[in-house]
Amino acid sequence: MRKKIIAGNWKMNKSFDECMALVSELSNMIKDEYHGSAEVVIIPPSLYINSVSRMLADFNNISSGAQNCSNHASGAYTGEISAAMIKSCGGKYIIIGHSERRQYFGETNDWLAKKIDAVLAENLNPIYCVGETLEERESNSHFDVLTKQVSEGLFHLNAEQMAAVVIAYEPVWAIGTGKTASTAQAQEVHAFIRNLVKEKYSNEVADNLTIQYGGSVKAENAVELFSAPDIDGALVGGAALQSRSFADIIKAMA
Ligand code: PEP
Repeated sequence: MRKKIIAGNWKMNKSFDECMALVSELSNMIKDEYHGSAEVVIIPPSLYINSVSRMLADFNNISSGAQNCSNHASGAYTGEISAAMIKSCGGKYIIIGHSERRQYFGETNDWLAKKIDAVLAENLNPIYCVGETLEERESNSHFDVLTKQVSEGLFHLNAEQMAAVVIAYEPVWAIGTGKTASTAQAQEVHAFIRNLVKEKYSNEVADNLTIQYGGSVKAENAVELFSAPDIDGALVGGAALQSRSFADIIKAMA
């Protein structure tokens, strides 16, 4: 059975003390209140990963991760952080290709494919984000856009490498806007992505692939989203910045 994963992307928010307080509150809530099988991933700014992963050492259902990494393994790349550095600080997952990275930092599918390789070279798990803009959805080109993002970013991998990948479907028009895709819209895209993976690899690889939904997920819409057969968790932004709202989303996953 494929893994369910709920990840909280804090983006560029929180001081160190605020970060520590949130991890402490959240991990206690999960310990006391969550009896489901999902893995929870806390994705703070990279500066804090080391401290976060140490705080989580005793929790086998909570991991930490990073929001981005370099496509290079090491060297003279001022300001960059490598997958190996993230691993050495206890990070397990790395978000690759978040729409904010694509939009504000010009990251292309080709470039992201190299970042995926860098993550896999360290035996970490990439969370590869795909999703269409509002214009692309309204012009009905979203399936073409998604096909390009998935195939150009991932389809150079072999089946064994693909098994380490998580995909997050995040329609750009739903991120931070309060507008969630309907469960039917999200399920349709998740099934479409799973089918692309099945055609390229196999039934087995597709069946085992975790596909998260992201875009204004809240406790109020999580139960319905998680009831869809191809939605295997969530990548959460705004609602992950408070322990109560994030814990309630986690509790929506059986
Ligand atoms: C995100 O940034 O990945 C995200 C889904 O944000 P939000 O939940 O705030 O829409």
